[in-house]
Amino acid sequence: MPTSSDLLLLRDKLRVFAEARDWDQFHSPKNLSMALMVEVAELMEHFQWLTEAQSVNLAEEKKRPVEEELADVLLYLVRISDKLGVDLLKAALDKLEKNAVKYPADLVRGSAKKYSEY
Ligand SMILES: [Mg+2]
Repeated sequence: MPTSSDLLLLRDKLRVFAEARDWDQFHSPKNLSMALMVEVAELMEHFQWLTEAQSVNLAEEKKRPVEEELADVLLYLVRISDKLGVDLLKAALDKLEKNAVKYPADLVRGSAKKYSEY
């Protein structure tokens, strides 16, 4: 799990990367959220048409390409968080706490129902 300083390192490297290419002008939250969605789709493409079992036991030659799409997703998450002034790690930890309240373990254990279905 990334620590706050890991994410700050990524944030800073992305700033340098974008600045060196004069791409900051394109990095609006609108564009970045769309780019994030494209990367999520690229990740999903690797699992499209696989069975559940194939997706769990991913073929060795698929692991590296999947890893790269996961990295793309994280990079865009970090970049869009930076542009919006969001502390991504804090936001994720806060959301996890909120989800724990929404889904009490003793109530939902073993169920995939949505909180509104309880
Ligand atoms: Mg990609």
